[in-house]
Amino acid sequence: MAKADCVIKGGLVVSGEGIARADVLVGGGKIQQVGSNLKAPKAIDASGKYVLPGIIDAHNHPVYADKLDTFSLAAAHGGVTTIIPFFGNFASWGTPGKTSEVIKRMIEEGERISYLDFAIHAAFVAEDDIKVEVPKLMKMGIPSFKMFMTYPRRGMMMPDEKMLAAMALAAGEGGMAMVHAENGYGIDYLVDKFTAEGKVSREYFMPSQPNVLEVEAVHRAVAYAALTDCPLYLVHLSAREIPEIVRQMKQGGQRIYGETCPQYLSLTNQAVLERGALGKVGPPLREKEDNEAIWRGLASHIIDTVASDSCNVKAEQKEWGGASRDSIASSPARKPSGNIFEARFGAPSVEQMLQVVYHDGVNGGRITLPRLVQTMCENPAKIFGLYPKKGVIQTGADADIVVFDPAVRCTINADKMHGNADYTLFEGKEVLGAPMFSMQRGEVLIEGGEIRRKQGNARFLPGNRDTAAYARNGYPVA
Ligand SMILES: [Zn+2]
Repeated sequence: MAKADCVIKGGLVVSGEGIARADVLVGGGKIQQVGSNLKAPKAIDASGKYVLPGIIDAHNHPVYADKLDTFSLAAAHGGVTTIIPFFGNFASWGTPGKTSEVIKRMIEEGERISYLDFAIHAAFVAEDDIKVEVPKLMKMGIPSFKMFMTYPRRGMMMPDEKMLAAMALAAGEGGMAMVHAENGYGIDYLVDKFTAEGKVSREYFMPSQPNVLEVEAVHRAVAYAALTDCPLYLVHLSAREIPEIVRQMKQGGQRIYGETCPQYLSLTNQAVLERGALGKVGPPLREKEDNEAIWRGLASHIIDTVASDSCNVKAEQKEWGGASRDSIASSPARKPSGNIFEARFGAPSVEQMLQVVYHDGVNGGRITLPRLVQTMCENPAKIFGLYPKKGVIQTGADADIVVFDPAVRCTINADKMHGNADYTLFEGKEVLGAPMFSMQRGEVLIEGGEIRRKQGNARFLPGNRDTAAYARNGYPVA
């Protein structure tokens, strides 16, 4: 065993099982021991603080105002140590080309510019040659394939027959499907109807993307996954009806995982009414009853993960739908049209995710801290084949650790953010609790509010399909 480098002393170490006072000994980039009275040349005092596994953000899009460099910087400041972005053949993301080639480039770029270790999900569009791409990507360590059931007019929607074929291929190779479950034809019908009636202001956004279209798409995706025996991960669940559907399917034995995001737990359509295009995300921000139903789904082990779905964009990009960082630089600023349907989807949330979920969830009495660690550390690591290297504080795991002070009061404010996003929908929110220190593989990431790690030390993490939660001998998800 390598010599111990440091010990994180006297903190309350949190796992999915519970909370216990312990020292954590770190050496050679790994956790060497968790116990009492441990000693090392350097000690980090964590008394009165929680010691969490580094947060894994399993859903994000570092393709707008940020690339992996500034996106991972913002994530690191929010207590995240591992990110799993989506990449694929999307002109609108600034990455046209065969999905496997785009991802090969992104792995190289990420190892050069990211501050954080990263895995990758593939995102498919209709034109992808999935027969070639699925086996190729599996060999590259990409076992998760996302498909959109919406945005047909933006060329992003996967036709049903191709989605079925992709699920069958993924299942055959030991991979999993991920879907954005909203019925895109239904949304376009309503958008056209409102537009014809001249109803294009902000208050028509939520009614144009109603719950029933998420309910329908979840049912359809679940049925296709059952037909093809493909494990299915439902991203960013938002509608109040969904937890009950997922519960029934899970109890029936189907390998289904549910994800939600801080914005579907802690924000409502009020954000759109107040801030217009800035609050436009897909699925839409809904109502308080939806938030509370999703919280209950999370607490009762129906929804498995919380991820950010962070699209780090600038306010001006939202108004006129500008795409990548490079295209913003070359585009003259345009005047917002005031038509909510012309604004772009997506909002930044990765830097606030841990604090918001901790405050509204744990301080708010909706989930326990061990449940937070399950849904933001252990489960994403288990589902995507990164466990037990990531997601847990135990002997032999990577030393990816966050020290969290539950007594620090903060007001969330865009001026304090890192990265290129210049607004947050959580602006002005008061939260109790903040990440104070983090490390990855024993290397200090954030200390004293500053990034300490240099770019070029992050690693690509291939997803291990044999240990993924959905694999026959994989880890069950709590
Ligand atoms: Zn997304």
